[in-house]
Amino acid sequence: MLSYRIGYGEDAHRLEIGRPLILGGINVPQAPRGAAAHSDGDALLHALADALLSGLALGDIGQYFPDTDPAFQGLDSALILQRALELVRARGYVPANVALVVTLDRPKLGELRGEIAGNVARLLHLAPGEVGVSFKTSEDLASDHVQARVTVLLQRL
Ligand SMILES: [Zn+2]
Repeated sequence: MLSYRIGYGEDAHRLEIGRPLILGGINVPQAPRGAAAHSDGDALLHALADALLSGLALGDIGQYFPDTDPAFQGLDSALILQRALELVRARGYVPANVALVVTLDRPKLGELRGEIAGNVARLLHLAPGEVGVSFKTSEDLASDHVQARVTVLLQRL
């Protein structure tokens, strides 16, 4: 059996005035708009959870947390990530490192890099140096939504 597996996930949420913007479990201050979503709309944690599941061909978070289920209204996405991590660990794998990319035009996220990396590292039981965070803008091509893309390397214990 392979000792390593790679996973990839992506997610996007439309931005709406009057909603909080949460990325990697961190509430983004001074965000003019936040994510329209059934859960808390954390595109980064959703992409990360999908990346974990995809690495072991376990499907996607929509199968485990259907957005038609009222039980998941306003759900803390850290719980979605925790569930995905449990499924990965149950098969004998743990994340080795992750690469996160967030595309958002406003506000600029650079000052939150350490906070987001630190929180994702905490949630995955990784060191901060094992969580790479890149921020991109769309040059106003896609300023109506926030997008996240994630790759993860899974290592067999
Ligand atoms: Zn999502």
